[in-house]
Amino acid sequence: MVRQRMVRRLQQDGLRDERVLQALAGVFRHEFVDSALAIQAYEDTSLPIGHGQTISKPSVVGRMIAMLMGGATAAQQSGLGRVMEIGTGCGYQAAVLAAMARHVVSIERLKPLHDKAKLNLAAAARANIRLIYGDGRLGFAGAAPFDSIIAAAGGEDLPQAWLDQLAPGGRLVAPMVTPGGRGQVLVVVDHRQEAGVSRFVRSEYEAVLFVPLKSGVM
Ligand code: SAH
Repeated sequence: MVRQRMVRRLQQDGLRDERVLQALAGVFRHEFVDSALAIQAYEDTSLPIGHGQTISKPSVVGRMIAMLMGGATAAQQSGLGRVMEIGTGCGYQAAVLAAMARHVVSIERLKPLHDKAKLNLAAAARANIRLIYGDGRLGFAGAAPFDSIIAAAGGEDLPQAWLDQLAPGGRLVAPMVTPGGRGQVLVVVDHRQEAGVSRFVRSEYEAVLFVPLKSGVM
């Protein structure tokens, strides 16, 4: 079956985390794209989802979720715990996250995509996903703190709200524009807390290409 083949390829290319591979194998990616693109749904490529946005490559979705699994809160010992995703898009990544999370709050700033994701995810019948129409730069204080925060759009800074809403021990993974402004890299931030004092430890990984993180809603 094409989904299994996609997952085997990702595994051969170095994605080792069994739980992430299983979650990817469990989501029908073709149900999240236009029917004209469905035949490409199990290739490792990003695809247009309308409104100038794209669904990320499965290898990048897998890589980022595997990175998130390195978080250290109690809830993250058995999965991703409470997750916030910024950039719902078509809802594909939210569905993969939901398979590994206690619950997922996913925020989208474009109303038509928020509505599309609602339909897509109703079909996928994931009960532990809450979709929010809003500016993800503000996070979602009403459901904070989060064990895991993942962004599908890259900005020049990390919004303070994301750090404020990250639980002690929690981990954030996001694409970020490099200081020179010439590209994006994946950034991991760990919230360490010692004697009640918070420290945010940041590391940078490989270059990536995501749509820009924008402000406000449309
Ligand atoms: N995870 C998505 C990828 C969508 S692309 C999927 O599986 O389909 C990234 C999305 O981030 C776009 O839909 C874009 O509109 C959205 N985005 C950009 N800036 C945002 C912000 N400030 N708040 C919420 N969503 C944002």
